[in-house]
Amino acid sequence: MNSDTVFDYEVIVVGAGISGLGAAYTMQKAGLKVCVLEKENRVGGRMSTDRVNGFVIDRGATILGRDFGYMRKLSAELNVKQFENPFRFVFGLKGRDKMRFIRPRRPDDLFQKGLLTFSSLRAIVRFFAGMLWLGRKLRHGQSVRTAAYDDQSIEEFLTRYGGHELLEKVLEPGLNGPMGGHFRQNSRLIVWQTFWNVLFHRVWAYRSGMDTLPEAMAKKLEVKLNCAVATIEHGHPCRITLQSGEVLTSKAVVVALPGNIAARVCRNLPAGVQELLAETTYGKMSIAHVMLGKRPAQDAPGMGFYPLAGEHCEIEAEHLRGPEFCPPGKAMLSLYFWDHAQETVSAMSDAQVNAKAREVIARHFPDCAEAIEGIHLVRWEEGIARFPPGRLKKMAALRQQMLHWDLPLQFCGDYLDGIATESALALGVGAGEVWVKRLRG
Ligand SMILES: Cc1cc2nc3c(=O)[nH]c(=O)nc-3n(C[C@H](O)[C@H](O)[C@H](O)COP(=O)(O)OP(=O)(O)OC[C@H]3O[C@@H](n4cnc5c(N)ncnc54)[C@H](O)[C@@H]3O)c2cc1C
Repeated sequence: MNSDTVFDYEVIVVGAGISGLGAAYTMQKAGLKVCVLEKENRVGGRMSTDRVNGFVIDRGATILGRDFGYMRKLSAELNVKQFENPFRFVFGLKGRDKMRFIRPRRPDDLFQKGLLTFSSLRAIVRFFAGMLWLGRKLRHGQSVRTAAYDDQSIEEFLTRYGGHELLEKVLEPGLNGPMGGHFRQNSRLIVWQTFWNVLFHRVWAYRSGMDTLPEAMAKKLEVKLNCAVATIEHGHPCRITLQSGEVLTSKAVVVALPGNIAARVCRNLPAGVQELLAETTYGKMSIAHVMLGKRPAQDAPGMGFYPLAGEHCEIEAEHLRGPEFCPPGKAMLSLYFWDHAQETVSAMSDAQVNAKAREVIARHFPDCAEAIEGIHLVRWEEGIARFPPGRLKKMAALRQQMLHWDLPLQFCGDYLDGIATESALALGVGAGEVWVKRLRG
C-alpha cells in the first residue's frame, strides 16, 4: 500500500445493528477513526423500538439473558442506568383442556401438570444432560468451541430418545415463534444455546425499550444514517459505494449486514465465501403489536410465549414483560406470525395481516375484541437466523478463516454464531478487536 494514500476513515463499518455498533465502539475506544454507515434513519436494526401513543414497542428482540456478558458490560460502561427489568418467564402451553404454564428451569412442571407421560423422561434427561455437559461453552460468541455438536437437528436428537411428545407438546409450541417458525429443523446446538443463554438463566429487558443500548452507543460514534451501501470492494484502499453514488475509502471494513445481504454487496471475495454467505437464511416474521385499552381477563402468571392452538402464531404479553411498556391500565399483546405450509404470511398485505390479528384476538381474547386501540405492524424479511445442522460448523470455520486471512475485511452478525443479540454483539466486538490489533498493534 502506498503510504501517501489518503483514506476517509481507518475503518468503515457497514450496518448499525448491535453487531456493527459493537465493532465500531470497540475500535473508537482504541482510538481508530471509524464511521458507521446505516441505510435506515435510525440505528439498532433488529434491536430497535417504536413509541406509539404511550406504548413502547420493541420491533425485534425483546428478551435478554442474564448471562449476556457483552451486553451487561457495555450497559455498565455506557452508564445505561436502570437497564435491568427482571420478569418471570413462563411458557404458556395448551393442555388437554386449558392453558398450563411451565417454568423453564423446572422440567418437573411438565409431569405435574399432566402435559407429558413418563415415557418422555429419557428425552428430557438427555436434553438437559447434553446442555449441562456443554455448559458455559454454549455462551454466545463461543460457538467455535461446540461446533462438533452441530451434527443433528433437534427433531432427530429428541426422536432418538423417544422425545416426540416433548417436541410436539412442549418445545415446538413454546419455541417455534422465537425461532422464526423453524424450530424442529434447527440444530440441537442452537436449541441448547437458546436454552442456556436465555431461558435457563434469569431474563431481563431494557426498562425503556430495546433501543436504549444501540442509541447510547451511537451517541459516542460517527454514524451516517440513510446511507444504503451498494457495493463493498476490499483492497488498498477499500472502496464503499453508496446507492447515492458517493464513494468512501478506508483501510479496512467491517461488514455487519445480514449474511445474505453481505453476499450481494461484497465484491471480490475469496472462493467459496460469497456462496457461504448467500446460503444464510432467516425466518420471515410479521408481528402485529395489538394495543388494548384494558388488560385481558385470561392473563399468564408471568411473561412468556403462548402458542395459540391452530393459529401458527405466538403471543407475547408486553404488559407483563415491562410495566412501563403500556400506559396505566392498558395492555399490549404482540402476535408473532410465521410462514408455514398452509399460509405465506410474509406475502400478505399489511391490511390482511392486521385483519388476521383482529380475528386471532377475537377468537382467543374475546373480552378484548372491542378494546383494540390500534395495531402496529412490524415485518422482517431477515428475521430470525436459521441454523440447520452443519451451518454453525461452517460459520465457525469461516470465523477461523477470517482471523488468519490478510484481507482488510471482517464479517460480523448473529448469523455467524446464534440467533440472539448477544451473538451479534460478541461477533461485532471480536471484529473490532481484530482491527485494533492489526492497525494499532
Ligand atoms: C422478531 C424478532 C425477535 C427477536 N427476539 C430476540 C430476543 O428476544 N432476544 C435476542 O437476544 N434476540 C432476538 N432476536 C434476534 C436479534 O434481534 C438479532 O440477532 C440481532 O439484533 C442481530 O443484530 P445484527 O447487528 O447482526 O443485525 P441487524 O440488527 O439486522 O443489523 C443489520 C443492519 O444493517 C442495515 N443494513 C442492511 N442493508 C444495508 C445496506 N445496504 N447498507 C447499509 N446498512 C444496511 C440494517 O438496516 C440493520 O440496521 C429477534 C429478532 C427478531 C426479528
